[in-house]
Amino acid sequence: MAQMLINGLSVGALSGQELDVLSPVDGQKFDVIPRGDRADVDLAVKAAQNALTSAWGRMTALERGRLLHKLGEKVLEHHAELAALEARDTGKPMTTARNDITVLARYFEFYGAGADKVHGMVLPFLDGYTVNVLREPLGVTAHIIPWNYPAQMLGRSIAPALAMGNAVVVKPAEDACLTPIRVAELAREVGFPPGSLNIVTGLGEEAGAALSEHPGINFISFTGSNEVGVLVQKAAAKNVVKCVLELGGKSPHVVFDDADIDRAVPIIVRGIIANTGQTCTAGSRLIIQQGVYPRMMDKLAEQFSKVRVGTPEMDLDCGPVVNIAQQQRVEYFLNEAKKSNIELVAQGSLAPGLPAAGYYVTPTLLGRVPPSHACAQEEIFGPVLATMAFDTEAEGIALANSTQYGLMAAVWTENGGRQQRVSKAIKAGQVYINAFGAGGGVELPFGGVKKSGHGREKGFLAMEEMSTTKTVVHYHG
Ligand code: NAD
Repeated sequence: MAQMLINGLSVGALSGQELDVLSPVDGQKFDVIPRGDRADVDLAVKAAQNALTSAWGRMTALERGRLLHKLGEKVLEHHAELAALEARDTGKPMTTARNDITVLARYFEFYGAGADKVHGMVLPFLDGYTVNVLREPLGVTAHIIPWNYPAQMLGRSIAPALAMGNAVVVKPAEDACLTPIRVAELAREVGFPPGSLNIVTGLGEEAGAALSEHPGINFISFTGSNEVGVLVQKAAAKNVVKCVLELGGKSPHVVFDDADIDRAVPIIVRGIIANTGQTCTAGSRLIIQQGVYPRMMDKLAEQFSKVRVGTPEMDLDCGPVVNIAQQQRVEYFLNEAKKSNIELVAQGSLAPGLPAAGYYVTPTLLGRVPPSHACAQEEIFGPVLATMAFDTEAEGIALANSTQYGLMAAVWTENGGRQQRVSKAIKAGQVYINAFGAGGGVELPFGGVKKSGHGREKGFLAMEEMSTTKTVVHYHG
């Protein structure tokens, strides 16, 4: 049985209660996790508070950086084990799971190297004064993460917080706790002091709500759905703590007639089928200029019909989705498309002999989706690509900006002026030109505008988000 990690100890829930862990591959139970609640969260927050005034709090930035580096190395030593665990828990194809563990290690490497590089300043001021602006940790930081990339989200959220000297309490998603727990055990092995990194598992409405409402926390990093993000922000407001919200997306590709279609098509297909579409930055809307629409759809259809779905070990293009609710969600949107007579231009295929009780869905390319349709507006969180056509540059931009979200976008054109105009006009936290979500992007500041959230993670900006300044004004004559 997997256990939580509180104050350096592997423990069950104080209540003794557990939750079943089901495999997305066949819907069968294969493990249990503790059903932590308010009492366990309270213990974890107290352990984190104690860590700030003991061994962890006394470490220099250099020492924290070294520990993070060691954790990155340890993750790489355990790469195969962690990838297998991640694939088992989430259903990801092995190649995706392996990549996720590599990116997890990158977060510890990047922020390990950054720990002693985000610092204060000395300001010029009045005669007789010296002003120091100190860079300080926020204190206890809470990290509530989703199930789609449990390993990557863990690294992205906690590595900058630890680098800046905070003590962290993590609430992983109930559907995907196993890798975060194992990584916390590895952190203990490399020498993270008790209380510096705590993991509390359990239900969102119990452990998650208790963590976001706890008066002992000083910051919340939340990644997940908009509905829960609003609850978390309300809880943060009650305690007057800052929160970063990384929420949903409906990210557009805008493809102009002059685009390099041969380069674009495989990247666009990858951008929607990766992780079976369960990616906040999935490129789920494809906005194509009329002149290239037929040619582009032909090429897309050819590639989409080759997409194959199977178990993690089969290591095909897609695995199952994470749970039955997610499977039903994808099926609901496909039915909505059919009811509205939207053309299912091409579909991938399920490998023969998959377990009937597994959570498999069929990757689908939708043709000419009306911009106001649910499939063009809502985050499906599955491998479903909604295409639509436009005439002028202004129309393309308007379509790109026509949802409540603003997370990521791509512009595909060879025209330099248009590359600049369109990327500036699109409302999103990241815009790619002739590329999409390249290379994990640990270094690249990331986050949303509009309903995709606020605050920034990744890059050096995350270390600023997860720390504060104190201005010390000294009169010495
Ligand atoms: P979710 O909101 O259901 O759950 C996210 C986390 O919040 C889980 O740990 C869950 O246990 C917890 N939670 C649930 N109810 C809670 C409550 N009342 N109080 C506090 N915590 C609670 O999201 P999900 O279904 O796990 O993840 C999918 C969503 O996450 C999608 O919308 C996706 O776009 C988004 N996401 C965003 C990013 C990003 O960086 N912007 C990255 C990954 C996923």
